[in-house]
Amino acid sequence: MVNEIAWRQLKEELDRLNVTLVAVSKTKPVEDILTLYELGQRDFGENYVQELVAKQPSLPEDVKWHYIGHLQSNKVKLIASFVHLIHAVDSLKLLEEINRQGAKHGRVIDVLLQMHIADEDTKFGLAAEEIESICTSVQRNKDAFDHVRICGLMGMASFTDDEQKIASEFRSLRETFLSIQQHYFGDLTHFKQCSMGMSSDYKIAINEGSSMVRVGSLLFGSRN
Ligand SMILES: *Cc1c(COP(=O)(O)O)cnc(C)c1O
Repeated sequence: MVNEIAWRQLKEELDRLNVTLVAVSKTKPVEDILTLYELGQRDFGENYVQELVAKQPSLPEDVKWHYIGHLQSNKVKLIASFVHLIHAVDSLKLLEEINRQGAKHGRVIDVLLQMHIADEDTKFGLAAEEIESICTSVQRNKDAFDHVRICGLMGMASFTDDEQKIASEFRSLRETFLSIQQHYFGDLTHFKQCSMGMSSDYKIAINEGSSMVRVGSLLFGSRN
């Protein structure tokens, strides 16, 4: 069930702090998305391509769709015409495919690079050096990447109750973000997003400088 009160409180708090709220609607029906849309929510996050492609035509055109899951290169074409921001780019090959699909659709697709900050092997993402290496490749070859735009970094903290640990993982993302921004983006204002924080840890993430949180169960109820 959609928790309208939780949405209102969170949205107000985040607006005040200038943090974008991405409402993560994976596994939830179109009606639940519409409920929040009617209250004013526009940014929604999904992490299964088939599900996103099924829901998108049923919802208003001004919904901003965030693709937050692991994305396979061969599926980029299915979302390239409408996706607002791809959060979890974790290889140069994927970035090249997003660029190719962006060119096909005559648009520039905004993306974030996913950094591996948790100590669990199961989570996808890049080391800081790999992020630097991708940014170097893009910088050296700007013409080959003119249909994709790197707008920041994304990360997921370890699944733990240890708030100090979560905070230090988010801090490492933020520090890498600042260093990449300084070295590669200078005063290019589009490189501005630190996508970090979910239902259980968004407060810690905001404390550590998050600009965008991805919150699902707190708004839509728990998933099966
Ligand atoms: C599901 C998911 C979220 C939201 O998780 P909640 O705990 O429901 O807030 C955030 N980010 C990613 C990448 C997800 O897959």
